[in-house]
Amino acid sequence: MKILNLLYPERCPACDTVIPFGRRGFCAECAAHPALIKEPVCMKCGRPVEKQKEYCEDCEGTKRNYDGGRFAFSYASVSAGVYRFKYMNRRAYAKTYARVINDELGGWIRSLNAKALIPVPLHKKRLIARGYNQSKILADEISALTGIPVADKCVDRVINTAPQKLFNRKQRLINVKKAFIVRENVVKLDTVIIVDDIFTTGSTIDSLAGVLKESGVKRVYFLTVTAAGT
Ligand SMILES: [Zn+2]
Ligand SMILES: [Zn+2]
Repeated sequence: MKILNLLYPERCPACDTVIPFGRRGFCAECAAHPALIKEPVCMKCGRPVEKQKEYCEDCEGTKRNYDGGRFAFSYASVSAGVYRFKYMNRRAYAKTYARVINDELGGWIRSLNAKALIPVPLHKKRLIARGYNQSKILADEISALTGIPVADKCVDRVINTAPQKLFNRKQRLINVKKAFIVRENVVKLDTVIIVDDIFTTGSTIDSLAGVLKESGVKRVYFLTVTAAGT
């Protein structure tokens, strides 16, 4: 255990500083400025809104396949960390992300009565190249805290979409359309929560929510670490 800790020291998921042995979570500096998302938030996408508003400008009057979603951190505070989590093998961040998500959003999560957490799948080729699916790792940690099982076999990514960051909004929607296919009977799941690292335009999550609903899931929500533009 000690050797493992030397090889993989606990690091702050915001700034990547090594945390003193025996401590966990954010470094003292980042913990002093936790940039958490506070209510009121948009009922669809979880972005902060003005007090009297139910929906943000983006969601007002726009049809979505998902029923709602939440995230815990402001983008500015964790975007560099989430990049390392996703591309630089900082899988251990998931524990801290999950703990904060559970602390901040546990009440909302429980109120949904979800039957499963569904991590956004990676295409096989990309999974092999990266070695892990960061959304699955995050979903496992959230599952350990909430008791909601992870269902990661029921849907596959069948098209190896180009990274979303290369596209503008309209292109993103086309890029992820029909990227997913449901492999199992998901009707019994009834209500599910999609888990992903970042909510960017929401097109990936919306596309996945769409195929799940076509397959008989009644309510689809999402949980992410953060959302662009917050
Ligand atoms: Zn830090
Ligand atoms: Zn919104």
